[in-house]
Order: sequence, then C-alpha cells, then structure tokens
Amino acid sequence: MVDLKSQYQKIKNEVDKAVIEVMENASFINGPAVKEFCDDLAVFSGSNFVIPCANGTDAIQVAMMAMDLQPGDEVIVPVWTYVATAEVIALLKLKPVFAEVNPNTFCIDVDQLEKKISPKTKAIVPVHLYGQCSDMEPIMKIATKYNVYVIEDTAQAIGAVYTFSDGTKKQAGTIGHVGTTSFFPSKNLGCYGDGGAIYTQDEELAKKMKMIAHHGERIKYYHDVIGCNSRLDTMQAVVLKIKLKHLKDYEKNRNAVANFYDKAFEGHPNIATPYRSSNSTHVFHQYTLKLINADRDALKEFLASKNIPSMIYYPVPLHHQLAYKDNLQPGDSFEISELLAKSVISLPIHTEMDEEQLNYIAETVKSFFL
Ligand SMILES: *Cc1c(COP(=O)(O)O)cnc(C)c1O
Repeated sequence: MVDLKSQYQKIKNEVDKAVIEVMENASFINGPAVKEFCDDLAVFSGSNFVIPCANGTDAIQVAMMAMDLQPGDEVIVPVWTYVATAEVIALLKLKPVFAEVNPNTFCIDVDQLEKKISPKTKAIVPVHLYGQCSDMEPIMKIATKYNVYVIEDTAQAIGAVYTFSDGTKKQAGTIGHVGTTSFFPSKNLGCYGDGGAIYTQDEELAKKMKMIAHHGERIKYYHDVIGCNSRLDTMQAVVLKIKLKHLKDYEKNRNAVANFYDKAFEGHPNIATPYRSSNSTHVFHQYTLKLINADRDALKEFLASKNIPSMIYYPVPLHHQLAYKDNLQPGDSFEISELLAKSVISLPIHTEMDEEQLNYIAETVKSFFL
C-alpha cells in the first residue's frame, strides 16, 4: 500500500546524518530538533501552538484531558473512523456518542449532527477521513451554539486546506479548539516509529496540554494536574523536520496518483471514485473506491491474486465492534456506514508510484468487471 523504502532512499543522506548526530549528542529526549520541528510545523500549518506527543491517539487523549470533562460527559464521534478516536473517549470514562457519516465525503454528516447533541455533550470530534476536511464551518457553528469543544482528528489529513464561505482558508486541525495528528510511518507525514502532535490557537489550552503530556508538571517535580507521559523522540523529530520540507511534494505526488485513478475509472458503472468536496483540498491519505452492484471481497481477492495489495478501511463500523456495542443510543441506525463497510476498497497510493504500476493496477481493477 505504501513504499517507505524508496521514499527513504531519496532523503537517506540527510536523514542518516541527522539521526547519527542525535546518537552522538545522546540528545534522545527533548533534543533541540523537537522544538525546531514544532516551530516548523507551526509555520507550515498556520497554528499558533504545536505540542509534540508520542502518537496520534495520545494527542486526542491529552486534548480531552485538558478540557476538564467529567465522567459520563458525552463526546460525539463519527461511527465510521479508526478506533483510536472513540477509544480515548471511553478510556477517560466519557461516553462516545456515535454519529453517521456523509456517504460521499465519508466524514461526519453535518445534517444529522445536531440531533446527537444533548445537555451532556461536551465535545465533537470530526475526523478528516482519507485526507479531506470535514465540513468545518457548520460544525463550528453548531459547536458555538451549544458551547461544546471541537477536536479535529487530523491524523489522515495533515496539510489539507478548508475554505470558509467568506473565502478564508485554514488548514485541517487549526479550525477547532484543538487539532490532533499522527506521524505513524504510513501517514502522509510519517516518522520512523510513533509520533504525534497537537495544534491549538488557545494559549491556555496549549499550556495545559503541554503540562499534561509531561506528567502534569508545572515546574520540575511539581505536579499540578494528573497527566501522562507522552513525548516525541528527538530521533523522530529530526526525521520529521526533514520530511516536512517535502510534504507539499508528497501531497502533489499523491494527488497525481488520485487523478490517474480518477481518469482510469471515470464513468465506470461499478466504481464510484472519491468525491471531491468543493470546500476542501484532498491530501489523499487513502484512495478509496465505492463499488456499486459488485462483490467487493471478490475484487479484493482478485487483486491479491495479481499481487496488488488493497485494504478495507474499515471492515467494521464502531457500533458493531464488541468493545463499543454498548454505546448505541435508542433509535440509532447507521445504514450508510454499514453500506460503506461492505462496499469500500482502498487502492495503493503513495509518493513513489510510477505510471507502469498505476496502469497495471487500474487495468487489473477494470478487468475484474469484464
Ligand atoms: C492513525 C490514526 C489515529 C491514531 O494515530 P496513532 O499515531 O497510530 O496513535 C487516530 N485517528 C485516525 C483517524 C487515524 O487514522
């Protein structure tokens, strides 16, 4: 699905030098590159504050810990997402409230969001799935109306740009009260292990989240709040600092792949190519097709027999996961997510694909339907 080896070869000299330097200086924890990378990411994203942490899941957890939520408080999360988003809600003894997604964008359905709000709702977590922004303008309007926090899960959409109706543009993760992201190796900005970061525009929240990620420490050995231990290693920071310079090009390469696939499958009666929102750019973390009147699992098997990897993101929506099945509310039904679970398939997309590979994949997919 991704080719991280070829990507590394292109930046090997620079990365090797930087990693060796960390070892020679033994600056493994909180070395200078951690702050430098966060400063660079702040400039790149337009976020006032960037707080490093250990992974994208911790990023969401630290954000929620900073919001003084009480056990039983409700947090709305799309039912169609990676489990991490709901997991930290449950871990903090909050209640995940599932919301349906839009069948085209795969992101939280804004039209159905308001009816999920109750007096106990304290936060909404839109997930910018597959690389495109959720519809943030109406989400922020609803959040303001009900005075709830918005945490943007930006793990799949770093660099995506949302355009408001007045023309204002903002990057994914910098619109809500907090934005969280992941540097898992296969993410668009991936490090060589685990890593994550938190964006906020609010100085108070920034201070608090920084403290929480460091054992709730105000000054060394003085702990004001209950925290956790969530750091970005210096090794990962030096890699990220180098790769951030290439992120725009990586995004371009991913879009070229997506455009190729779009054209190859244009007008195909059994294939719906990814919908492009008019108010968001797409950074194509995934290229996900929806099949129409076709056996998705048979296509996946067929591709595997031709040595083409494919993935199902996600085979089981959260409300059918054993760990979360008790979180259903009366009247809940998630027919769209259930249909997506049966009909989506993601094709290989990464920064190092050539025309020959793309042709082979597209022609093989089409040959399945002949
Ligand atoms: C990858 C991902 C996460 C978690 O990131 P980790 O760094 O693996 O903890 C959270 N949410 C979404 C939508 C993701 O894709």
